[in-house]
Amino acid sequence: MSDFKYHVDEDGVAILTWDVPGKSMNVMTREAFAEVSEMIDRALADDKVKGIIVTSGKDSFAGGMDLNVLARIREEAGDNPAQALFDFTMSGHHILRKLERAGMDPKTLKGAKPVACAIPGTCAGIGTEIALACHRRFMADRPKAKIGLPEILVGLFPGGGGTTRYSRMVGAMAAAPVLLEGKMLEPAKAKSAGLIDEVVSPDELMARAKEWVLSAKDDDCVKPWDKKGWKMPGGAPYHPAGFMTFVGANAMVHAKTQGVYPAAKALLSAVYEGALVPFDVALRIEARWFTKVLMDPSSSAMIRSLFLNKEKLEKGANRPEAPDQRVRKLGVLGAGMMGAGIAHVSALAGIDVVLIDASQEAADRGKAHSEALLDKGMKRGKVTAEKKAEVLSRITATTDYGALEGCDLVIEAVFEDPAVKVEVTKKAEAVIPQDAIFATNTSTLPISDLAKASARPDQFIGIHFFSPVDKMMLVEIIKGRQTGDRAVAKALDYVRQIRKTPIVVNDARFFYANRCIIPYINEGIRMVKEGVKPALVENAARLLGFPVGPLQLVDETSIDLGVKIAKATRAAMGDAYPDDAVDEVLFAMAERGRLGRKAKAGFYAYDEKGTRLGLWEGLGELWPVAANQPDLKEVQNRLMMAQVLEAVRAFEEGVLMDIREGDVAAILGWGFAPWSGGPFSWLDIIGARRAVEICEDLKSRHGPRFEAPALLRDIATKGDSFYGRYGSGEAAA
Ligand code: NAD
Repeated sequence: MSDFKYHVDEDGVAILTWDVPGKSMNVMTREAFAEVSEMIDRALADDKVKGIIVTSGKDSFAGGMDLNVLARIREEAGDNPAQALFDFTMSGHHILRKLERAGMDPKTLKGAKPVACAIPGTCAGIGTEIALACHRRFMADRPKAKIGLPEILVGLFPGGGGTTRYSRMVGAMAAAPVLLEGKMLEPAKAKSAGLIDEVVSPDELMARAKEWVLSAKDDDCVKPWDKKGWKMPGGAPYHPAGFMTFVGANAMVHAKTQGVYPAAKALLSAVYEGALVPFDVALRIEARWFTKVLMDPSSSAMIRSLFLNKEKLEKGANRPEAPDQRVRKLGVLGAGMMGAGIAHVSALAGIDVVLIDASQEAADRGKAHSEALLDKGMKRGKVTAEKKAEVLSRITATTDYGALEGCDLVIEAVFEDPAVKVEVTKKAEAVIPQDAIFATNTSTLPISDLAKASARPDQFIGIHFFSPVDKMMLVEIIKGRQTGDRAVAKALDYVRQIRKTPIVVNDARFFYANRCIIPYINEGIRMVKEGVKPALVENAARLLGFPVGPLQLVDETSIDLGVKIAKATRAAMGDAYPDDAVDEVLFAMAERGRLGRKAKAGFYAYDEKGTRLGLWEGLGELWPVAANQPDLKEVQNRLMMAQVLEAVRAFEEGVLMDIREGDVAAILGWGFAPWSGGPFSWLDIIGARRAVEICEDLKSRHGPRFEAPALLRDIATKGDSFYGRYGSGEAAA
């Protein structure tokens, strides 16, 4: 079966329709590229064909390149994968260039057959790059349709000519949001940004494209860069205006990426160097940089975690066998910060929600949270009045547990107090159907203990959201000792409904994400106590690619929460408790009322509006800065290993059951250096042997918390890697 269909209509317009069988969205493969190339040849050679329309048989145009293809090319290429990837990229350039020149006489620039792209809906990656090679682009104004080049978000950049074409169409500065930030634009905005030429209604799309093809003149079919005297919009690099642009862009990219993302640098280089040479040479340069990025371990790791494995987890890679468990009616107990967020995202996904709190006022406040978020969406033009009404009508805010009747899933998010949790579990179970699943959103209480309050512990599970619920994409699903398969399937099907990314872990203190985040924060605080400059700590984290340093993170999550967790952990661990030095700092901050952002005072200083100003100067008085400061690498190694070793331990102990989940969760859950692909990918990039050396060095100076786990040592000794051993989801032996 072929991915493209070829048809010449009665007016002599060749229509190339992309319609991959059995898929809801088109993705490009090697075979499909060959097919479309042959069809372009056919249309150009056929005298009866007056012009070409490239379109899609679906209500979207394309999702992009099948990224598995790139991985396969690399694997199949033997000892010269760079050459194979470069050749593949160049063959793509030849095909799109053939479409773009469309039989034009290179001397007279006449005789090209007009090529239009009729884009019925969402269009990304290589789909957009095909469109950019056409002479004119028409996009249907379908709700939610967007077009763009989001490659940068998975560690690549547009390498199918998109970088060179788009930057030459609008100039480097104007191209930045699309190329460097991967912004996907709605049709009207895409038109202003120069990505498309016309926005039309879906019914008129083909007619309008055809009308243009049949009336286009020679000049309409020549790209600006193929004309004599073409100049780069905004100025080429050696033009005064261009010079300013590139110097500025370089600084801007570095500020945003800290230089740790190879794709962003390569993209800028491709645009800069490409702007100095003729178009075909620029494509060659783009292909060389693209190959370099594809060969970089960071890009492969990012693609693996942020695209391939994230998608596998979302599609239920670790779902036990069980019939469809989609949720129809959800009960949420506790309408506080988390409960209100859970009710909102569920109602948004079309699920009916009963939102219960102890007082009607509190329940209503929870529903009002949803209303506020919808209003914000309306202001931004993302939510219609009908949508708002529909979502709000799905949420019933009440104090009446009787309203839980018929709920097939209940999630409790009441106070973090076992007694309150026991009470609401019993009250809900008295009403809900026998086969309903009961979930807790607890952050710190063991699921197996809470399950004791349930008459049906096999139907009891943890579904742990992160705050703010509407923004955070990770959901941890926690299996208690007695949790059954159907409960796991239910939780996974629910997370899929609300379009978040799930991981499934076993029950242990702090589950997975918080277990790794806490040592990261603690290591930062420990360094403040030792007299390491707080700015060095924060900058070391930022330079590793973390969105926020450990001190900013604890300010955001609140210092009193840190104190609470520290007290509870000490009570549970007794003499083995290792974090006295951390507590000294935390407790001192709490005593001074410096509770973090919410108190407008923490490790950072804030103005009265709550805007962060800078690190609090008082830190230096409480914990004087030492005369000898560690070097940057030492601080980075400590911050990195504090969390990475915890991830390895979680896997070794069987809390985490799949390293792919460990990597995806780290990036989505706490922003773990996305360029690395996650903690396990990072260990594979630096190599287990080197990691053990770092651990030994740190341990000799900072103590046993840096002891390399046995599993890491074993991998180092045998010359293995984490993905080599466990990359398909195998559990630790
Ligand atoms: P919150 O204090 O904002 O909300 C708790 C709500 O539960 C309040 O509205 C309270 O009135 C209500 N409540 C108390 N007793 C009740 C009862 N008997 N019946 C019905 N409602 C009752 O707390 P939160 O931050 O939303 O946290 C809720 C749960 O989620 C806790 O278990 C917490 O550990 C967990 N959690 C919190 C976060 C976070 O970042 N805040 C993240 C993940 C998980």
